[in-house]
Amino acid sequence: MHGKLTSGKGLEKIESPRYIIFGPNAINHTMDILYNLGMTGTAIIVSGSSITAKIAEDLTSSLDGEISVYHVVTAGGRINDVMKVIEEALKVKADFLIGVGGGRPLDVTKLAAAKLGVRYTVVPTSASHDGIASPAVNFSLSKQAELKFGDSINGMEAPTAVIADTNIINRAPLIAFKSGFGDLVAKFTAVRDWELAYKLKDEPYSEYAASMSLLSAKIAMDHASEIKFRLEESTRILVKALIGSGVAISIAGSSRPASGSEHMFSHALDKISEREGVKSAPHGIQCALGTIMMAYLQGQDWMWIRDKLKKAGVPTTAEEAGIKPDMVVKALTIAHKIRDRYTILGVSGLTPRAAEKLARSTRVIQ
Ligand SMILES: [Zn+2]
Repeated sequence: MHGKLTSGKGLEKIESPRYIIFGPNAINHTMDILYNLGMTGTAIIVSGSSITAKIAEDLTSSLDGEISVYHVVTAGGRINDVMKVIEEALKVKADFLIGVGGGRPLDVTKLAAAKLGVRYTVVPTSASHDGIASPAVNFSLSKQAELKFGDSINGMEAPTAVIADTNIINRAPLIAFKSGFGDLVAKFTAVRDWELAYKLKDEPYSEYAASMSLLSAKIAMDHASEIKFRLEESTRILVKALIGSGVAISIAGSSRPASGSEHMFSHALDKISEREGVKSAPHGIQCALGTIMMAYLQGQDWMWIRDKLKKAGVPTTAEEAGIKPDMVVKALTIAHKIRDRYTILGVSGLTPRAAEKLARSTRVIQ
């Protein structure tokens, strides 16, 4: 069990993974890593239902004998899945958790580990967002957890180890890579929003975390045109950059360096999609569109950002992303209300006319 330590005035806490290993066949080193970290005894391995379940099964058999492993398959990454993992973990007296998956199984693992007060390791199977190395979880699930657990989860911990096998990640669909690239581009507007909140609202700010987040995004930008070819080397760059961004979140102790108005736009789109019963576009793709528009509002070089996205084959228009134009406009008008986070959207947000003008000026809608 962990003692819960929160930051106070003058006291800073940095939570970061102890082991990050990535490269071809990294997964084969799981046992050694767990052993070195003293993560032995009984583990729950959490995965999705299809491809990630198979990877989790293979991993389970490779650990067999040394560690007692119980496999929990999650359905949709909702709060019920978190409860299922917690129940199973309590039943078998699990010492730690292992999350295997692209996004949702990792989020479920993080929340269950936080509630149980145990350590966890993540084995990402795609490079679609920066949650692979950070304590942060998907916004909607974190809201559900807040309702369910209240204050009983106090502070999310970073994964103890991140094991990113680029052979496995390279088998993920191309859209996952594009989404990961989009989530990295988002750092340009997120960091700018954070600076603004620091200057106008005296919010805590870490120059170190901000620089690290921007550096991750810049590294990915330099290799924009290689992303779409899904070579092992470009996958490695993308994974490294996403891990860097995740570590920046860990250092800041908040998702501020990675998530600003462009993420609020994406969350707003999720909300509207859910209400209308349509499937959302991938997280990083929505963030990419948000970044183009927020960069415009911030007076940043939005055309340069759009150009990099195009080079990486990431959609830069609502049409390419499969999102209805009126949903983009609507999302822009409600994005400021999504969470209590000061950004370029201010406290009153955009009027419908200003929102439409913004989307048209940046050619996100025609
Ligand atoms: Zn993100």
